[in-house]
Amino acid sequence: MYQAQAYSAAGATAPLAATSISRREPTERDVQIEILFCGICHSDLHAVRDEWNEFMPTIYPIVPGHEIVGRVTNVGSTVKKFKPGDLVGVGCLVDSDGTCHECEADLEQFCPNRILTYNSPDRHSGSVTYGGYSESVVVDERFVLRVPENFDLAAAAPLLCAGITTYSPLRHWGVTKGKKVGVVGLGGLGHMGVKIANALGAHVVVFTTSPNKTEDALRLGAHEVVVSRNADEMAKHAETFDFILDTVSAQHDINSYLDLLARDGNITLVGAPPEGLNVKAFSLIGGRRSLSGSPIGGLRETQEMLDFCGEHDITADVEVIPIQKINEAYDRLSNSDVKYRFSIDMASLKSQ
Ligand code: NAP
Ligand code: ZN
Repeated sequence: MYQAQAYSAAGATAPLAATSISRREPTERDVQIEILFCGICHSDLHAVRDEWNEFMPTIYPIVPGHEIVGRVTNVGSTVKKFKPGDLVGVGCLVDSDGTCHECEADLEQFCPNRILTYNSPDRHSGSVTYGGYSESVVVDERFVLRVPENFDLAAAAPLLCAGITTYSPLRHWGVTKGKKVGVVGLGGLGHMGVKIANALGAHVVVFTTSPNKTEDALRLGAHEVVVSRNADEMAKHAETFDFILDTVSAQHDINSYLDLLARDGNITLVGAPPEGLNVKAFSLIGGRRSLSGSPIGGLRETQEMLDFCGEHDITADVEVIPIQKINEAYDRLSNSDVKYRFSIDMASLKSQ
């Protein structure tokens, strides 16, 4: 084991603070990575504040962070895919059993034995996994992604969660040229959803509660913007959408979006409000509509997304912060005040 500098929270109401954590020395299958940037996902905030206690109780201290980009510093003896100096990424998964039918189908996100990047049992240390708010991480090579060299690294980090979480359902539900697609919530996930849906050729409509995001939404690739608090604007789109991606992090009226779906249209929830949502049966029944959810994506699809984003020159719009500003960033994130993802410059860890 070796010691790595990191930021952790000691409890649901405690601020994040500097700490030192134990990481394993790389085993033969491991890749050791110097972390350069780590995005701040709203899931980090839910987890730190233990808002998902009912489903995934948080174990403290927690070191969040699952949008990791860095350089390989060391590899184990059997590692084939990577060498020191390679630019790599790590997302929300760091292990799975590799043998179940989900893993065999490249859908590790559904493996019953998947291990998340933080707050999951760590079979190496016997403790829990620690995420990317840290100077380095050691990960099985199967869970390490190649990051295209043409990317701005701070802006590439959010692809590892926000990118794949939006790319996967957009592909799964057949979003392509000629489809009318809604994106609800213009935050970290939402703004990636807009860019990717636009690149897939769809007609993209953003639904936002923040009128001051309208110009940005258009610049990011939306063709239309609806301020969702305006019932008349909403009504103009009734029964017209093929697909809507809902990225909202808090409770909201899902029925007002279900009513915008055309026959056989689908809404996929990627946003994970702790309180859940109230669904009216008749909002679904009338148009044979469906409501589903989607978690991140498997490794094969995450690599496909990174390559797709490399080809289309898609990265996140980021505000780069030093790690010392993390608690301020969390406060702003909980107020929907970020354009559109915070990315932590991990070099700042060394200037404590
Ligand atoms: P974010 O940057 O905070 O964006 C969420 C957006 O939702 C806000 O910018 C805001 O957009 C809208 N919003 C917030 N509160 C709202 C409210 N009370 N009513 C209506 N709209 C509201 O968060 P994120 O990082 O994109 O994450 C979004 C959600 O996805 C979180 O719950 C997160 O945990 C979840 N998530 C899920 C997965 C998965 O695998 N399914 C992966 C990552 C994250 P406007 O200002 O435009 O209204
Ligand atoms: Zn995330």
